[in-house]
Amino acid sequence: PAPRKKRRIHFDDDEGPKRSHSISSSPSTPLQKQREQLPIAKERDALIREIRENDVTILLGETGSGKTTQVPQYLLEAGLAGKGMIAVTQPRRVAATSLAARVAAERGVKLGSLVGYSVRFDEICGADTKIKYVSDGMLVRELLSDPLLSRYSVIVLDEAHERTLRTDFLIANLKSIQVKRKQATDVKGKGKCTSSAVNPLKIIVMSATLDAEKFSRFYHNARILYVKGRQHPVKIFYTAVNQTDYVDSALRTFFQIHLDQPPGDVLIFLPGQEDIESLEKSIKMHAKRLPVLVSLMYASLPPSQQARIFSATPPQTRKCILATNIAETSITIPGIKYVIDTGKSKEKRYLSKDTGGGFDTLLTRDITKASAMQRAGRAGREGPGFCFRLYTEEAFNNLAAASEPEIRRCSLTQSVLELKCLGQDLETVEFMDPPDINSVVAALKTLWILGALDDSKTLTPLGRQMASFPVEPYLARIILASSTHECTSEVIDIVSMISSSSKLFLDISDQRDAIASARSKFRHPSGDHLTILNTLRAYQEMAETENKSSRKEWCKQHFLNERTFTEALKIRDQLRVTCGRVGLDWRASKKDSEDPVLRSFTVGLVQQSALLQPDGSYKQLMGRSVVKIHPGSTLADKKVPAIIFDELVYTNQIYARGVSSVPRSYFNGATPAIPNGS
Ligand code: ADP
Ligand code: MG
Repeated sequence: PAPRKKRRIHFDDDEGPKRSHSISSSPSTPLQKQREQLPIAKERDALIREIRENDVTILLGETGSGKTTQVPQYLLEAGLAGKGMIAVTQPRRVAATSLAARVAAERGVKLGSLVGYSVRFDEICGADTKIKYVSDGMLVRELLSDPLLSRYSVIVLDEAHERTLRTDFLIANLKSIQVKRKQATDVKGKGKCTSSAVNPLKIIVMSATLDAEKFSRFYHNARILYVKGRQHPVKIFYTAVNQTDYVDSALRTFFQIHLDQPPGDVLIFLPGQEDIESLEKSIKMHAKRLPVLVSLMYASLPPSQQARIFSATPPQTRKCILATNIAETSITIPGIKYVIDTGKSKEKRYLSKDTGGGFDTLLTRDITKASAMQRAGRAGREGPGFCFRLYTEEAFNNLAAASEPEIRRCSLTQSVLELKCLGQDLETVEFMDPPDINSVVAALKTLWILGALDDSKTLTPLGRQMASFPVEPYLARIILASSTHECTSEVIDIVSMISSSSKLFLDISDQRDAIASARSKFRHPSGDHLTILNTLRAYQEMAETENKSSRKEWCKQHFLNERTFTEALKIRDQLRVTCGRVGLDWRASKKDSEDPVLRSFTVGLVQQSALLQPDGSYKQLMGRSVVKIHPGSTLADKKVPAIIFDELVYTNQIYARGVSSVPRSYFNGATPAIPNGS
């Protein structure tokens, strides 16, 4: 059904580019000109003055006004970095890497020199790096080895409105760090202490929405500065009736625009990578006669492909960008005139009641009104635009206003462990929004089951070792268990593969038979974990002799995602380094590895396990849910006495994915006896 015109909303009117202001370097290159024309440029001097005078500054500005790319450069140009570095945190790794690349280009330097980035499993920085884009999770990890974050003079908490768990964690910790560093400098100033190299810390909180008061209040009524953006009117269309298949509706709406509407690029918001890839295929299939340049943007998109969304659209062509909510506020794409909003996004959720375990699942959910407004706004950056919402106006009116902070809805296991390493307790830290006591208890219980905490909730040496690994505590526990069973090499191989952000096994539902036979040689009777190991080994053996294009062909033949291998090998390098640091021999390997590997996995996955019931279903060992084995698993339809699994996927059923069969006896003594009352 054609989207029906309903009503018109206007955003703030355009003020037009302003040219009268100063940037220290002369605007000779086109990039310099672009910098100068950003709305934030005319606020530069006022901004610097405020930041210089205040310890904490809250900066609000519409998406695309230039906050993320410009503020760090202004700070640097004004000498506010001093001898230290400027860190800019991002909730998503793809934003950190892509923005660092942009800022390096604006300064005419190589990425990794003056400007760099650091995200999990990937870092490009050097000794002379002054501006560093970091994922918020990475900065939390840096806290563990440098509790005062003394390498940084300024920390910019960007996208604070997203209220991710890690950003909230930093907001809370930076408040006390700032006080401690101030005290250290005061003492130093009085000549009482000479050894301390700690300098004062400036904090800048940046956000794209108008909820700044809360940040300000938290930081003793810090100054709030506003940057006005440019926003042209955007005409909103709603569908007349509810849509059942948003990918299909997006496809049809796209071609309606493509065929009927004047030139202008299209941005389509979808919940995740899988939908993005399937829509990409359909658009390409239907677009034979009408040129469309399709580009993608999602969390795990490799850096090599990120720049494509910014490339100029060739004449007679329409660019169509398929993105997740990353394109809502983190990354502004130029040239967008049409937005198609499916109204869906993936959200991390902790389902403690159902899962009984301390882990999150990603659920596709309705977006909030705040997100819908941001999405529409993307169409009006350079001129009047159009937003096609693939839901009814009534559905829009029923959306929640804004989403709950992650701290209220995500697993806290890793955060509790990190705080314990910092000598803090989640219950006593001052957060902007305190976590729910039930999730704190669940996190403590998980850590206790994994052996990271003892009966008095004190961090154990094992817990400290677990925190050294840049993976979730349960995965770290599996690696540590592998040392007892002398199969660390195999376990790290598998953990690296399952930590990769891309799925290894491509699943095309109408080709399941062909896929199964192509992959049958990798299949291990115990299930997916050892099948993954076999697959990685086959890939590595092949890759030793084959060139790039035959490697690609080999992956295609076996319906495998090559990106998973390349990413996993990087992750493996890091895990091996960490093993070395905590005194584990990553070379430890068993010839007959099935039993030791599965025993190691069972130690970390006790909360992710289920037992076969007399009626043929699987019931969680430590939870109430009945789960089914995912149809994509090598164990699909199999009945085995007990299973362990990597994750639960919620669709109309609860599916266990990444499943292996283990003897029930493995669970004997796998957990300490649960004390009364917990
Ligand atoms: P804000 O943080 O206020 O949302 P940004 O600093 O991210 O704004 O963006 C400023 C401008 O820089 C935007 O117009 C955006 O399109 C542009 N920009 C950012 N990254 C790139 C890139 N890689 N290539 C081209 N333009 C970019
Ligand atoms: Mg930004």
